[in-house]
Amino acid sequence: MDCNVDDHIGVTSTGAFIGNADYLNHQRREFEKRRASLQQTGTRSSHLTFQRIGDRFGRWSEDYLHQCSKAIVEEAHRHGCTHIALENLEQIRERISDEKKFQQWAFNALQTMVEYKAEEYGIIVETVKPQYTSQQCSKCGCTLEENRDGQHFECLDCSYTANADYNAAKNVARKLAFKLQQGQKSPAGGAFCQYALQSGIMTVSDTSVSSDTPVSG
Ligand SMILES: [Zn+2]
Repeated sequence: MDCNVDDHIGVTSTGAFIGNADYLNHQRREFEKRRASLQQTGTRSSHLTFQRIGDRFGRWSEDYLHQCSKAIVEEAHRHGCTHIALENLEQIRERISDEKKFQQWAFNALQTMVEYKAEEYGIIVETVKPQYTSQQCSKCGCTLEENRDGQHFECLDCSYTANADYNAAKNVARKLAFKLQQGQKSPAGGAFCQYALQSGIMTVSDTSVSSDTPVSG
């Protein structure tokens, strides 16, 4: 899964677009506006209202993220996934500027919620390094910064085009499948590591991305 602070909150390798980060950010800005005007008023009653709307927004945003995390885990469950791959938060921080503390909180909250909801389904959540997930082509494996233009991904090498976050989600999934495969003691005897796509599954090979074979079903 690819997590975002704008557009969709989560995009899965199976092609599900979950939540609306722009909407969440908009609600947050509205809340901040109201809070700022109440702070200027400075009366005791405005202080109480200040607290109340703060609590209300906190509950609302938490509930919103709960719904998103639920949809993410159900998507994985529906596809029979044993794992959900997320990008490592520690390394993702650099993508989020300092003044966007709220988005950082939302990222953290969402991932924590995904983790414990996944546990109920016996699904394991693992993180992968976020490097190049948005610039790399999920089809041919080439990594070029120019491949990504906002929400649009177009590989300059193989011409693969996709929603940029969907392309990133497939890279995140592949990274984990690859990591799991590397961790197998006996690759010959163990199960293949596969990841779920919008149509069918992909099996990772330990040589290169391009030798992945799509399997329909
Ligand atoms: Zn490509």
